[in-house]
Amino acid sequence: MAADIIPLGPSGAGTSSASASEKDAGSALDRAAEGLGLPGFEPGWVWLVGAGPGDPGLLTLHAWNALSQADVIVYDALVDEAVLKLASPKATLEYSGKRGGKPSPKQRDISARLVELARAGKRVLRLKGGDPFVFGRGGEEGLALVEAGIPFRIVPGVTAGVGGLGYAGIPVTHRDTNHAVTFVTGHTASGKVPEHLDWAAIAKGSPVIVLYMALAHLPRIVDILRENGRSADEPVALVRNATLKDQETLESDLGSVIADIERTGFKAPAIVVIGEVVRLRQGLDWLGALSGKVLDANPLGLKADRDAG
Ligand code: SAH
Repeated sequence: MAADIIPLGPSGAGTSSASASEKDAGSALDRAAEGLGLPGFEPGWVWLVGAGPGDPGLLTLHAWNALSQADVIVYDALVDEAVLKLASPKATLEYSGKRGGKPSPKQRDISARLVELARAGKRVLRLKGGDPFVFGRGGEEGLALVEAGIPFRIVPGVTAGVGGLGYAGIPVTHRDTNHAVTFVTGHTASGKVPEHLDWAAIAKGSPVIVLYMALAHLPRIVDILRENGRSADEPVALVRNATLKDQETLESDLGSVIADIERTGFKAPAIVVIGEVVRLRQGLDWLGALSGKVLDANPLGLKADRDAG
């Protein structure tokens, strides 16, 4: 299969800006908060909030409400700047990711900081990329708050492995291709391929596999899947910076994907999807259609059968 990186270009994701002024946006939020019963952010609380994969339009109303009220926002590397711009001007922003080659702060230190800020009476917004409970250590942070007796709220977000693929025109389930999907991390806390996983069972039992944090270990993962029966011509897609202006998609197959990544210099952060659902992109790449791509209404070649049946 030919592999190409398809940049979205300036007409891609997230380019349109809201016409409402900040003031209007503020009052729209006030109305929404009142009408929808969005909660007030109490001092001394921590809200663990998913920011989604990048495009600010994918924030939830709860996330927006949190951004407008928080005193301190402790955010991760994968939270986009455009999202942080929605914070109240009085909020303090604290970055908790890797910076300037320095090692990232230890999870223990981040949890301790959340507790410290809450005990100081701040409204603490812990903002994470995607969903806080999907490979996001939201569970660890929540439990640390429980241990310290700090009240907290969880705000789920759009996870990259679902919403990010949606922006590339790839559904994670489709009734003609799969009735199950498995989400896997390609990277354990120690930085290794998660070898303790039952890869044979995943290879045999899961028609679609979505991999987070997998680029570094993809050669090994592809080998393991091939050893466990997945075919070289099975489609694979990688979506980099999903939902952002510079979103790029690499389409390939299990047999060629590693060579294609090297040839194109494809880089993290990317979400990887393996399975027949990738073929649906020929029909559902709605962002590509905005830049002139012609969509195929029958990407799996099944329509004639179905119409006949
Ligand atoms: N909690 C996050 C995942 C954190 S793990 C979520 O629910 O989405 C970090 C990994 O998520 C990255 O290595 C990458 O595989 C994936 N990821 C997050 N945001 C992404 C984006 N905008 N584009 C592509 N991959 C993304």
